[in-house]
Amino acid sequence: MSTKAFNAFEMAQTQFDKVAELLNLDQGTRDLLRQPMREFHFNIPVRMDDGTVQVFRGFRVQHNDARGPAKGGIRFHPMETIDTVRALAMWMCWKTAVVDIPLGGSKGGVICDPHNLSVRELEHIARGWVRQIAQNIGPLSDVPAPDVMTSPQIMLWMLDEYETIMRAQYPGVITGKPVNMGGSLGRTEATGYGVIYTVREALKQLGMRPDNSIASVQGFGNVAQYAIQLFNQLGGTVICVSCWDQGDSLSYTYRKKDGVSLDQLLGITDRFGGIDKKKAKDLGYEVLPGDAWIEQEADILLPSAIENQITAENVNKISKRVKVIAEGANGPTTPQADEVIQQRGIFLIPDFLANSGGVTCSYFEQVQNAMNYYWQKDEVLGKLDVKMTAAFLAVSELAVRKKLFMRDAAFVIAVSRVAQACRDRGWV
Ligand code: NAD
Repeated sequence: MSTKAFNAFEMAQTQFDKVAELLNLDQGTRDLLRQPMREFHFNIPVRMDDGTVQVFRGFRVQHNDARGPAKGGIRFHPMETIDTVRALAMWMCWKTAVVDIPLGGSKGGVICDPHNLSVRELEHIARGWVRQIAQNIGPLSDVPAPDVMTSPQIMLWMLDEYETIMRAQYPGVITGKPVNMGGSLGRTEATGYGVIYTVREALKQLGMRPDNSIASVQGFGNVAQYAIQLFNQLGGTVICVSCWDQGDSLSYTYRKKDGVSLDQLLGITDRFGGIDKKKAKDLGYEVLPGDAWIEQEADILLPSAIENQITAENVNKISKRVKVIAEGANGPTTPQADEVIQQRGIFLIPDFLANSGGVTCSYFEQVQNAMNYYWQKDEVLGKLDVKMTAAFLAVSELAVRKKLFMRDAAFVIAVSRVAQACRDRGWV
C-alpha cells in the first residue's frame, strides 16, 4: 500500500488532465489551466493577548480569472496547506464556469486554529490578511468569501480594513457579509435549495415525482437542513439523517420510516448540526450506526456532510432502489466508488454542480452591492432556481448526447468554457 499522503492539488490536476484529454486541449491551454495564474504567500504578524507577537502564514491563490473576477472563500485552519488552497481554487474555477456566472476561481487561507484564539486575535488576523493582499483583491479582480471557520463577522472586519486602506466604500470586495451590512437575503438557504432544484430536474428526467420520493441524508448542517426543507415542500419524504456526535466522537443515523420532522429535529440540534441523541430517542427516532444512511431503501441519497463518505468499502451497500445521488458536500465520493455508481447507472449530480447555489448567491450579493439596491428573498431564490436549472439542463443534455457520466459532462462544460475565455482573450 502506498504511504504517500493524499494531495488534493495532485488529485485536481489528475481530474483536469483527464478532461483535457477528452477535450483534446492544446498543450499551451493545458499548461495554463493546470496551474494557478497567481499565488500570494505572506506573513501576518499579530500581537497576541499575552503581549507576545505570533506570525501566521497566509495565502491567496487565483487559479484563473479569464471569465471574470476570481471568486473563492478564505479558510482559517491549523492544517491548511498551499496545495489544498491550490486545489480548492481550481475547483472554484470549474464551479463558477459550470453554473455560468461571470467569475473565475480563487481560494485563500491562514494557518491558525480559531478554537485557540480570542475574538480580538481573530480580528487582527483577519485585518492583517487584508493588509497583505489589499492591492491584489477587489470587486473587479478577486472577491473572497467565508469558508471553513470564517464567518460573516470576519468578512465584515476584512471589508472594513479594505475600505480603510482604499478610502472608499467597496461593499462588493467580499461576500457572505451579514444581511444588514450588504449581505444577500437567501444566502443561508441557497446551497441546500440549489441541491434540490437539481434533484427536482433529475427526477423529471427519470419520470419520477418528488411527492412519491424518499430521500436519505448524510449531514444535518446548513446544506442538509435547507435541502430537507425544500424537498419536504415539494412533497418528498426524508426517512433519515446522519450527523456527528461531539460527545461520543462518532456519527449516528436518526431514522423515522414514515419521515423525519425537520422542525422537531431542529429543536434538538446544536449550532454545529449535531443532534441530541437522548432527545431523539425520546421523540421516537431509531438511532442507528453513522453509516446506516447509505444503505436505506430510498430513491435519493443526499451526502451533505463531509468529503470521502461514499467509498469502495461501502458503495455496494447502496440499495437497488436508489436512482439519484446529489452531492451536497464537496468531494463525498471517492474515484473508486464513482466507477461503481457509474456502472450501476445511478443518476449522479456532481458536487460542483449540485452545491453551486452558494457561490451563485454570492454572485447575486455582488450584483446587489454594485447596484446598491437589494432584492427580496423570493427574487433572489427565483433567480437562483433559473440559473441552477439552466446549468443542470446543459450538463444533462451533454451527458446524454455524448454518452458521458454526469461528472465528466460537468467537467467538460466547465473546462471548455474557461479554455474558450482564455482563447478569446488571446492568452492561448
Ligand atoms: P455544517 O458544518 O453546517 O454541517 C456539517 C454536518 O455534517 C453536521 O450536521 C455534522 O454533524 C455532519 N457531519 C460531520 N462529520 C460527519 C460524519 N463523519 N458523519 C456524518 N455526519 C457528519 O456544514 P455545511 O455548511 O452544511 O457543509 C456541508 C458540506 O457542504 C461541506 O462539504 C461543505 O464544504 C459543502 N458546501 C457547503 C456550502 C455552504 O454554503 N454551506 C457550499 C458549498 C459546499
